[in-house]
Amino acid sequence: MKAPQAPRGTQDILPHEQPYWDLVRSIAAGVAADYGFQRIDTPMFEETGVFERGVGEGTDIVEKEMYTFEDKGGASITLRAEGTAPVVRAYLEHGMFKLPQPVKLYYVCPIFRYERPQAGRFRQHHQFGVEALGEIDPALDAEVIELLWTLYARLDLKELSLQINSIGDEKCRPRYLDELRSYYRAHLHEVCDDDRVRFEKNPLRLLDCKVPSCQGIADRAPHSAEFLCDECREHFAGLRHGLELRGLDYHVNFRLVRGLDYYTKTVFEIWPAHGGSQSTIGGGGRYDGLAEQLGGRRTPGIGFGTGIERIILNYKQAHPEGLAPPAPDVFVIALGSAERDAAAQIATELRRAGVATASTYGDRGMGAQFKAAGNSGARFALILGPDELASGQASLKDLRSAATDGKQLAVPLSHVVAEVKAQLAS
Ligand SMILES: [Zn+2]
Ligand SMILES: [Zn+2]
Repeated sequence: MKAPQAPRGTQDILPHEQPYWDLVRSIAAGVAADYGFQRIDTPMFEETGVFERGVGEGTDIVEKEMYTFEDKGGASITLRAEGTAPVVRAYLEHGMFKLPQPVKLYYVCPIFRYERPQAGRFRQHHQFGVEALGEIDPALDAEVIELLWTLYARLDLKELSLQINSIGDEKCRPRYLDELRSYYRAHLHEVCDDDRVRFEKNPLRLLDCKVPSCQGIADRAPHSAEFLCDECREHFAGLRHGLELRGLDYHVNFRLVRGLDYYTKTVFEIWPAHGGSQSTIGGGGRYDGLAEQLGGRRTPGIGFGTGIERIILNYKQAHPEGLAPPAPDVFVIALGSAERDAAAQIATELRRAGVATASTYGDRGMGAQFKAAGNSGARFALILGPDELASGQASLKDLRSAATDGKQLAVPLSHVVAEVKAQLAS
């Protein structure tokens, strides 16, 4: 019988990877707090309609990528396929429109999509995202983009580029889509098969095609920004002004459309130096019609999602030295079996006082214990031998400092916790 493995497209996050996750999550929570966003957690699964109505029936997510199943009561359930629709569902359900607007929320959660596994793409991946609901001012769009940029800056990610576009709203987009269709109609014999499907179902996505032979045609397509109504045009100008005020360089990319139906006006992505749109670290946009699509009152909103796996990939490239896993402060070594009980009691005392303490188990020789102490990365070894115990002392040895190599400090057992803490602080 073959031992089971993690399902295709999923991964275990092992202890040596956890320092990266801790770092990203803590910096993300800090940035969110600095911009006045509060945490929300929604369930891992929703009624399927939340995504069908929210994300849109013609999208890749809804058509091909959702983990949808019938539960034992016959309800259609879908594992969280994206972050925004569940947050808007919660906003409506809990009457958050009665609170002062905008309501600013952030989340860190797994997202499930049945995608073809490849580098940096998983069937379960994790996202940090924010949603700001109840405000139309483009200054908020600029602030949300600034928040994402600040996150990457605090992680010292380098050579990123901000791409923005406006794809209009329900007033002006139909006219643009007509224009886009009539342009593509003349080129349908030249484009890829997927594009012929997009032409029928989701023409905006034509601009998003990655097939090399389609690039020239997409590059010459009409720009949505030239078909904006007055309201959308002013909003887009306000966004650009807001970004300039904040010192954020941007590139207006008329081919940027994003894969979800709910976007209106602002869309944006942040790309790493290499790989462009295929390696987007984070992106989002405005979704002023989403709440209504979900059956609620009309509520403007703007947000983004950024994949934590992608951030870590970029972080590792920018910081090849890596992050060390957490190490104990102290490794307690009992020279003989007679000292083992005393060593266990001291370890307990140290841990109760908040000092991370490790030791070996079983009957190991002194050499093996010192080796284990070295491997653990502990800063100090606390050594208990018969002579020390007889004189009511232990020896504290600095394992990291080469200068004090071999030097040991005698520590009275009656003050061992205070002494160790003082040495750790020094
Ligand atoms: Zn194509
Ligand atoms: Zn418009």
